[in-house]
Amino acid sequence: NAPVRDRLRVAIQKSGRLAEPARALLASCGLSWRESRDRLFCYGESLPIDLLLVRDDDIPGLIADGVCDLGVVGRNVLQEQGSDRAGNGRTLAFREWRALGFGRCRLDIAVPDGWDWEGVQQLAGKRIATSYPALLSRWLVEQGVDAQVVLLSGSVEIAPRLGQAEAICDLVSSGATLAANQLKPVTTLLESEAVLAGPAEELDATRGELAELLLRRLDGALRIRH
Ligand code: ATP
Ligand code: ZN
Repeated sequence: NAPVRDRLRVAIQKSGRLAEPARALLASCGLSWRESRDRLFCYGESLPIDLLLVRDDDIPGLIADGVCDLGVVGRNVLQEQGSDRAGNGRTLAFREWRALGFGRCRLDIAVPDGWDWEGVQQLAGKRIATSYPALLSRWLVEQGVDAQVVLLSGSVEIAPRLGQAEAICDLVSSGATLAANQLKPVTTLLESEAVLAGPAEELDATRGELAELLLRRLDGALRIRH
């Protein structure tokens, strides 16, 4: 069991697409921090709510392990790790608490420009490269399509040109990267955006009250934005 803490700890991306918008949103909730020298930890000054600056992929695990209470992470990452845990028969330790409205993108299947797309059955027997193996595998089962999942940690969009796969399953925002690789999106597995993630179960009293306070302010800030 994690030791009892009387401060709330929120994990955000250290650098990358979600880093600045996450910080700006939390600042608009009236939070302010004093940064540590190594820039990994920010000590909350206006409220006992601290930030931990990490890689986005680590956020669900940090929540599951009770190292952090909340986190700002893409729904794509949260659902991939959730599907992976479910597939391994582990209980779901984290869930989406709020959609935050930034970092929007889609997890799409893309195929070579030259394909005449006739539907998902066309993927049967094909190799699909992705960094989202759990989400893709679950979706293939739901679709009743028997295809091979090829796991790549990056540069998924060049896999078809390299002959590693026939199709890909990757994040798309503008579609420019796909077009540059002679690929076209044909179907969407997930509409993603940044979310506030938290534990599946309730927090203890002190941190629970802090989380409630943060959620109220967050809801206010989100209403003004939209
Ligand atoms: P880290 O070093 O923290 O692991 P990363 O390279 O995994 O960073 P980023 O590229 O900064 O992560 O993306 C973070 C999140 O931004 C993604 O998980 C996704 O939710 C969102 N996002 C929005 N648009 C895009 C896009 N076009 N490509 C990739 N991610 C996007
Ligand atoms: Zn990452």
